[in-house]
Amino acid sequence: MQTTYSVDVAIIGGGIAGLWTLNHLVHQGYNAVLLEHQGLGGGQTLASQGMIHGGMKYTLGGALTGASEAIADMPDHWRACLRGEGDVDLRGTKPLSEHFHMWSTASLSSRLGGFLASKAVRGRVDPLNREQLPELFRHHSFRGKVYRLVDMVMDTPSLVRTLAANMAGRLFAVDWHDADLVVDDSGACRLSVDNGNAFSLSAAAWVFSAGEGNEALLTKVGSSTPRMQRRPLKQVMVRHHLPYRFYGHCLGAETTPRLTISSHPLSDGSQVWYLGGSLAEKGAGQSDAEVLASAQAELADLMPWLNFSDAQWAVLAVDRAEPRQRNLARPDQAFADWARGADGTALNAIAAWPTKLTLAPNLARQVSERLLERELRPSGAPPPALPLAAPPIAATPWATAFGVADATA
Ligand SMILES: Cc1cc2nc3c(=O)[nH]c(=O)nc-3n(C[C@H](O)[C@H](O)[C@H](O)COP(=O)(O)OP(=O)(O)OC[C@H]3O[C@@H](n4cnc5c(N)ncnc54)[C@H](O)[C@@H]3O)c2cc1C
Repeated sequence: MQTTYSVDVAIIGGGIAGLWTLNHLVHQGYNAVLLEHQGLGGGQTLASQGMIHGGMKYTLGGALTGASEAIADMPDHWRACLRGEGDVDLRGTKPLSEHFHMWSTASLSSRLGGFLASKAVRGRVDPLNREQLPELFRHHSFRGKVYRLVDMVMDTPSLVRTLAANMAGRLFAVDWHDADLVVDDSGACRLSVDNGNAFSLSAAAWVFSAGEGNEALLTKVGSSTPRMQRRPLKQVMVRHHLPYRFYGHCLGAETTPRLTISSHPLSDGSQVWYLGGSLAEKGAGQSDAEVLASAQAELADLMPWLNFSDAQWAVLAVDRAEPRQRNLARPDQAFADWARGADGTALNAIAAWPTKLTLAPNLARQVSERLLERELRPSGAPPPALPLAAPPIAATPWATAFGVADATA
């Protein structure tokens, strides 16, 4: 006789979306589990720049937009969670930085300068005077302007570890070579595993939070909507021993930052500057050698007083996976909606993409709303002891590229 386990909610994919949603639902009393096929965080989450932002990055056209308004209160939400006062307990996670910066190399266009000094953004953007400048810019040849944002930066490895530790006993490694997701005539999904220990798992609802893996999962269950888009990036990683830890966007002529820098300390005392922004968006269409050359030229142009001659360089090609938008536009909000079969059958699976690390709390709230729409309430039942191992936590791309562990690992 094959054992059948059942839960309120089964989540597939253990990046920020799945881990946050699991924490949120369990906190509400749902009997929920999560299945991961590789390492927790190993998709976009540990490849992200860790910025929890209040949307100021989206105001570089000189006005507040839908995107900037939608996430304005996220830094406060995350700070409450870090204090143990939010929907998810993040005590144990260390922010890498309490602030993010925006800087310009010379005077800003009067429109943007006026906007950044306006009442509309007061409290979210502070212009810094010379004495308040981050160490990196206290060089006599720096002529630009620097602003401090309310945004903060999470250490994503410790974030993933904390979210996973909160949910011990509810995280399971799935190997699709001996597992299958099947759908019955009523649109209910079921996991069937035969690893020498045959069992099946049914759930009142499934949540697909597998990042770009959602595409294959949706196809597998015969779903035609929602659909996914990929927006490719080529990030650059530079490992060096310079003393500057810096987190910031360089303002350019475009409405996306010219360059975004986040700093990630390694266990041997070196650090990685992780470079994104326009550099990485344009880099998606370039060879690795071209994007590296652009990164080196950008740093030489923006910070000519720094010497990277001993640095090591690497490139990471990574796609952002999101709900499909018209013209491949950047979505403004987290997304969670019920999947439908090609013939319109309502499946019991929710497809979920946060679209930003920052919006994970928003995503989890939307998943809860979707569940309540179908009257799916928490049962309060304990987790099942599925005969599956716990999944490992993945390494960051820079730890993998340079063979040195993160300082916080
Ligand atoms: C380079 C880069 C920088 C970014 N920087 C920021 C930033 O600074 N701030 C911000 O707010 N956002 C940022 N983002 C966006 C943010 O990282 C993503 O929106 C977010 O991490 C997506 O999380 P996720 O859990 O949906 O997906 P992922 O993190 O990709 O996780 C998906 C998980 O599902 C697993 N999986 C896949 N298929 C299956 C399957 N079939 N079965 C089981 N498991 C499966 C994967 O192994 C993985 O663990 C950045 C994105 C990128 C690419």
